[in-house]
Amino acid sequence: MRTVVVIGGGASGMMAALTAAEDKNNKVILLERQQRVGRKLLATGNGRCNLTNTGAAPENYHGENPEFALPALEKFPPRAALEFFRALGLLTVTEYGGRVYPLSNSANSVLDVLRFALAREGVELRAGCSARAIFRRDGGYLVKTESGEISADSLVVACGGAAGAKLGGVNDGYELLKPLGHKRTKLLPALVQLRARGDYPRSLKGVRADCALRLEGGGELLARSAGELQFTENGVSGPAAFDVSRAAAQFGPGAVLHVNFLREYSGEEVFRMLEEKAARGPELEAAELFTGMLHNRLGRMLVKSAGINPSLPLGSLNAGQFRAAAGACMDFCLTIEGTEGFDSAQVTAGGIRTSGFNPETLESWFMPGLFVCGELLDIDADCGGYNLQWAWASGRLAGRLGK
Ligand SMILES: Cc1cc2nc3c(=O)[nH]c(=O)nc-3n(C[C@H](O)[C@H](O)[C@H](O)COP(=O)(O)OP(=O)(O)OC[C@H]3O[C@@H](n4cnc5c(N)ncnc54)[C@H](O)[C@@H]3O)c2cc1C
Repeated sequence: MRTVVVIGGGASGMMAALTAAEDKNNKVILLERQQRVGRKLLATGNGRCNLTNTGAAPENYHGENPEFALPALEKFPPRAALEFFRALGLLTVTEYGGRVYPLSNSANSVLDVLRFALAREGVELRAGCSARAIFRRDGGYLVKTESGEISADSLVVACGGAAGAKLGGVNDGYELLKPLGHKRTKLLPALVQLRARGDYPRSLKGVRADCALRLEGGGELLARSAGELQFTENGVSGPAAFDVSRAAAQFGPGAVLHVNFLREYSGEEVFRMLEEKAARGPELEAAELFTGMLHNRLGRMLVKSAGINPSLPLGSLNAGQFRAAAGACMDFCLTIEGTEGFDSAQVTAGGIRTSGFNPETLESWFMPGLFVCGELLDIDADCGGYNLQWAWASGRLAGRLGK
């Protein structure tokens, strides 16, 4: 019997433990520092758990060397993840953009089927048990925990990243691997809210809008995205903002976010729609120019930002003012101060350098029997189920223990 210790009972660690336990010659011990496994999983997708994305493609993954993720993702694509969960009894539904959720709409369902499988496969779960240090010992490893030492023939480190601190995001994984010679890259919060400069229109707090985003800095295009944007107290959130947050964090203060609130239309079409609106209701106030097209508060703010007096009658506006209004709603600019921190980030951009691991097995090149998976590695992904897909795929590969 070989002893396999998996450190971290999150998405990737549970997957690695279940995979290792499929080989009945393995005795698998899963260590989790919190009182229960999968705490972060419960918070994913606003409690619904967007567990994968049927369209996951290489361009959704980032890091110093994003290609590192490909073998794992190819060996265990979204289809395989769905089959795996189906076999555990989980029913799922695929929504807009290929986002997959449990049919129950509850992240609990995903965690429950994993917990039952861990028990069924005989994985020894030690919750409330934090790994403190790892030593190389007799061709294997010695894991020091708060409550004693455990010898392992093989070790999977799946401690996650620094993001989502309130849900258990910690730096433990980076610290545990450092003495073994595995260094990390710079860490930045990603899939996180953007903070806008002081002139940000606070009246928009709570407004949601569909839009296309372009983030520019130093005269260059840094990132682009499309989808839902949510205005907050001091900036923007929501999937579209999350998808440019990695680039915003890397650039630092001063990047400019260009927002197009009518991405399905050309500038000329918007201009004509505004002219027609005014022709239909010339007696209405200019404040109503976007009524029926955009959220009322957003429309009013855009009228002001186009330099139009909102109490003028629509019939008195000229072509230049319609052009200015069209421009304001198709290229509304916000100067970005930075992003929120790791506490509110969904993932960590950066992590343990992938160059130290074989992408075909996730085994360390210089520490045989040591495997790493999940967010701890320098791989992060876009918003939409791609990060959990990486957790499942990399956990599956690491749990094979090089076989
Ligand atoms: C609010 C929020 C919402 C999200 N929503 C989505 C979503 O809908 N879809 C999606 O794809 N991704 C989502 N993500 C990202 C996704 O949750 C993570 O990428 C994924 O959980 C990473 O899995 P992991 O196993 O690498 O790490 P984690 O899930 O973080 O698991 C790591 C585990 O290791 C444990 N641990 C750490 N140190 C030690 C130690 N020393 N000893 C023992 N145990 C230790 C931790 O307590 C934790 O349980 C979301 C993240 C957050 C924060």
